[in-house]
Amino acid sequence: MSSFVLTGARILGAAKTDIVITDGVVAEVAPGASAPGATRIDADGLVALPGLVDLHTHLREPGREDAETVESGSRAAALGGYTAVCAMANTDPVADTAGVVEQVYRLGRDAGLAHVQPIGAVTVGLAGERLAELGAMADSAAAVRIFSDDGHCVSDPRLMRRALEYVKAFDGVIAQHAEEPRLTAGAQMHEGEWSARLGLTGWPAVAEEAIIARDVLLAEHVGARLHICHVSTAGSVEILRWAKARGIRVTAEVTPHHLLLTDALAESYDPVFKVNPPLRTDADVAALRAALADGVVDVVATDHAPHTVEDKECEWPYARPGMLGLQTALPVVLHTMLDPALLDGGGEPGPARLDWDGVAERMSRRPARIAGLAGHGRDPAPGVPANLTLVDPAARVTVDGGEIASRSRNTPYAGRTLPGRVVATFLAGAPTVLDGKAQR
Ligand SMILES: [Zn+2]
Repeated sequence: MSSFVLTGARILGAAKTDIVITDGVVAEVAPGASAPGATRIDADGLVALPGLVDLHTHLREPGREDAETVESGSRAAALGGYTAVCAMANTDPVADTAGVVEQVYRLGRDAGLAHVQPIGAVTVGLAGERLAELGAMADSAAAVRIFSDDGHCVSDPRLMRRALEYVKAFDGVIAQHAEEPRLTAGAQMHEGEWSARLGLTGWPAVAEEAIIARDVLLAEHVGARLHICHVSTAGSVEILRWAKARGIRVTAEVTPHHLLLTDALAESYDPVFKVNPPLRTDADVAALRAALADGVVDVVATDHAPHTVEDKECEWPYARPGMLGLQTALPVVLHTMLDPALLDGGGEPGPARLDWDGVAERMSRRPARIAGLAGHGRDPAPGVPANLTLVDPAARVTVDGGEIASRSRNTPYAGRTLPGRVVATFLAGAPTVLDGKAQR
């Protein structure tokens, strides 16, 4: 295998050094380090982060290859600085058997642009009636550890309890899309001032909070691991704070869009802002930023949800919920969460702040730990698998549909200028992105 020297990189924003990559691993980290025949890559002043890990990606294959494929989604991931993504199970057919999760796993391996870790469905066909073959998926070549009916809530408490009991045996985790369906029938956006003004049926915060409250209690009762997908309300944060203080084994994710966008955007009736759970209020955004900073919310996950023009560019009530996220997640997190002093004053002012180490923790190390991906989420150091990304903290990028590698175009950030540009991504020692361009 080839060797690379990344010259002048700043690991987690520290002083400049040179990083030598040989045979898929970081061989040496020291100023002036080199290797015979190595390709030199000018990384002067770029911040080196462990490759990002996404716990929540919709790759749409099998079944909706018109919206995204494993390959196109993996390319978007690499361009966004990701080296591993967890592929949600709501495909067609649903990833509820060993056969389907192995298919997705193989497609990811063949694309070779990111590690694709399949998530298995909790219930057969996401129907919420009986448990899927969780053990067979765990024992398969895909070695599934996360199970989720995402898109749907496992709303039956007895089924949720049994799922938690089942995965406890192999330290698996149930990732819950927290939405009490009886409270969100026909919902189009967050229930509040804006839904009343716009005349759209509301999705009340309590529909999320009631499920999280129930499920942390079930996780405590069973002693199993629970993960809460896309937490979106201030009330959910308070329940999670209580549960963690009590020692319950719960982790939680927030999406980039819930850190930046609010329900006021629905005023445009542009369905690009329709998403589930919906965009909430300024107060919710502030609570989510604070919770991500103080660790009550563990990680950022994209909920990358590609949709075709036919499914998305129609009247608001008929549009499918969901937004692209892989290529914009890091810039949105840097914009909303990174100390502006680390970006030459480019971020938003506000009290909740992370440094580069904090970003690495929430976008790489902790998600890798939750997913059990041993080769990912490790800071560049000798002997560590070379899964890393190089970010230019001085760059400002205006989001433009032309740069989207996804098959879909539903980004809510078009025209926005955001800080940070992914210059290079390495997967197992090989570049998937160089000079901001995908290598395959
Ligand atoms: Zn969901």
